[in-house]
Amino acid sequence: MKRRKKIFVSGIVQGVGFRPAVYRHAVENRISGWVINGPSGVVIEAEGLPGDLNNFLEAVSSRFPARAKIHRVTVEDIPPSGEQGFFIGKSLAGGDSRSIVPADLCLCPDCRSDISDKSGRRYLYPFTNCTNCGPRFTIVKKLPYDRPFTTMRDFKMCPECLAEYENPMDRRFHAQPNACPRCGPEVESLSAGGKPLGKGVDALNIAAETIIKGGIAAIQSLGGFHLACDAANPETVAELRSRKNRPHKPFAVMVRDIGSAGELCRIAGPEAEVLGSVEAPIVMLKKKTAAFDRLAPGLKSFGVMLPYTPLHLVLFDILKERGFSGPLIMTSGNRSDEPICRTKEEALLSLQGIADVFIVHDRPIHNRCDDSVVFVHESKAVPVRRSRGYVPGSIRLSKSGKSVLGCGAYLKTTFCLTRGEEAFLSQHIGDLDEEASHKFYLEALSGMKAFLGVEPEIIAHDLHPDYPSTRMAAGFKGRKIGVQHHFAHIASVMAEHQLQEPVLGAALDGAGYGTDGTIWGCEFMEISEGSWKRLGRLKPFPLPGGDAAVFEIWRTAFSCLKTFLPGELEKSASALFSGVKNTAVIEKMMDSGINSPLTSSMGRLFDAAAFLSGIRKEVSYEAQAAMELESLCRRRPARPFKFAIHETGGMLEADPAPVLEAMLAEKGENRSAAIAEKFHASVPDMVCAVISRLSKKTGIKTVALSGGVFQNRIILEWTSEGLSRRGFKVYANERVPANDGGIALGQAWAASQNAGKKDLNR
Ligand code: ZN
Ligand code: ZN
Ligand code: FE
Repeated sequence: MKRRKKIFVSGIVQGVGFRPAVYRHAVENRISGWVINGPSGVVIEAEGLPGDLNNFLEAVSSRFPARAKIHRVTVEDIPPSGEQGFFIGKSLAGGDSRSIVPADLCLCPDCRSDISDKSGRRYLYPFTNCTNCGPRFTIVKKLPYDRPFTTMRDFKMCPECLAEYENPMDRRFHAQPNACPRCGPEVESLSAGGKPLGKGVDALNIAAETIIKGGIAAIQSLGGFHLACDAANPETVAELRSRKNRPHKPFAVMVRDIGSAGELCRIAGPEAEVLGSVEAPIVMLKKKTAAFDRLAPGLKSFGVMLPYTPLHLVLFDILKERGFSGPLIMTSGNRSDEPICRTKEEALLSLQGIADVFIVHDRPIHNRCDDSVVFVHESKAVPVRRSRGYVPGSIRLSKSGKSVLGCGAYLKTTFCLTRGEEAFLSQHIGDLDEEASHKFYLEALSGMKAFLGVEPEIIAHDLHPDYPSTRMAAGFKGRKIGVQHHFAHIASVMAEHQLQEPVLGAALDGAGYGTDGTIWGCEFMEISEGSWKRLGRLKPFPLPGGDAAVFEIWRTAFSCLKTFLPGELEKSASALFSGVKNTAVIEKMMDSGINSPLTSSMGRLFDAAAFLSGIRKEVSYEAQAAMELESLCRRRPARPFKFAIHETGGMLEADPAPVLEAMLAEKGENRSAAIAEKFHASVPDMVCAVISRLSKKTGIKTVALSGGVFQNRIILEWTSEGLSRRGFKVYANERVPANDGGIALGQAWAASQNAGKKDLNR
């Protein structure tokens, strides 16, 4: 006796090959009925004998495509209809308003073997893909996700590809970017001046030759261009640094496989999993040898990724044939702070003088998308940059509301759009310094609005009046809500973990505009009843020269000593500050208050500590000194430095005077490392002490940690540990960056939770 069931599957089940998988399970189990995309997932009606139905249900919920994620399966009994055959339907009538463009998927094992099969028609074909892998977000122009609405529209499938595309039993059934060498896109190599040099495998041979000879190749990848070169060749690396004007900033590498990664870095179990995950991010790993120090000078970790497109893999195969199997630097193809190059024309213009050869192709990139960067903490991939592979995946909020746009801040910008109970964080846009970044921002925003079919009613923005994101926000339609920078950081953690108020927040950060017009950056707050209150901070000090101090860290060190230990400065000034520019000018600036904004920034205190440890006086990229200081730490010291904590004006204030004093007193040959360790231990101790006191006052036992300083794994681990030991429930960012790349989520959450209130500060 046949039975019929209606099955609802929710989760990531659209655009990931889920329906074809259901079809195959149905055929295998003699099930009739249909499967379609519904408003909030996949809907199936299945009819068959009870045993077959059970096997089918079991298969649907356990054997699904790698990229799919099932949140819930619900099953209802309905009367059998006697229907014959099994069909894949498109979407429910009226279209599918909840569908979303899937994220790009890294090359799957099956396609990998197709590429290596010498007798197969896709041997060394760099655009091989299937329903389990390939480009998605980066090639989609509009919804629904169908070939005519992607940049594959101009490629007409050959009969063989079409047969795969139309066969529900085939791995390439409805694989929108399906292609082969006969009908699909092709690579081409161009000289530095744009002259065509070769096509197909020849083109890749030319690139391989350039790389082996020590040259730099610009490669049109998935979401933009990469610059690729031999990571083991010191002259090449030096040349790339000089051409990119990037003296110290780390470069990520791409290695052939996980075995090669293991030769360079120490890889713990979960790290291997993340490296090989479908998102295929750049993973921060500990260096094993000093051989690759020049990739990340002064740092103990650097970023490693595996080939995630067939183009990368074919390049590695061709290199290997020529006897080269070393790691490749694979860094974003852009000029300094500009967005990653997307088109051939952009690349030829911007990368002129940087690349010796260009490898381009005719499958246009529609949505620019940089590589993601993560580190592994407690078995989770915590993003430092959340972009390719993760975008446009959503983050579920605890409640539904009006659509909100979180505009982001200034550095590492992303924006966030909400729809119903989901929040969609954009790809990494970067620092909003350049006109080109503003254009990219607006381009990405209109794309995301179209994909989601929403027009935000509320615009949440940073309070900084001069941030480009704030100025853009002013021009957007919708009700504006200003969200304080550090509240937004903490709110991003609350959004991710669906935390219920009240919560105590500790934001340890570089810089954010405070409600008093000064620069905040080490803030303790209480979040309750939809608003926040500042309850503690680092004792402020002036930042002579403002932003200039971010790079000339000696200025900050000088200011800290002058503010907190004027007597000590008098004694040691000439010795400590010899070799830097005139400190008298800085002193005058501070005394007269000209261009010396007050700050409570923990990031700047790290700079001062790095200077006082003797490791460097200036930096060439943001947070360089702090990262180098972190890299000096080997173990947890027995006797950390100690902040003094005072109560002033109803606020707790962490006074770094004793910390600075102890640093000056530190002597001996391992002085730098000792300072690094004792300082690193002092910060978590201070956070624990402040939070404990605030908890006594407020009775709150839940703590959210955020802000750029929590990308420092030592600070994150020791702070979480310390607070947990004291009985707190501790939450930190896991799905969006703790830096300003995650702030848009917090802005959107804060504004949506508080849509009725104008001012979120109490
Ligand atoms: Zn595949
Ligand atoms: Zn074909
Ligand atoms: Fe920040």
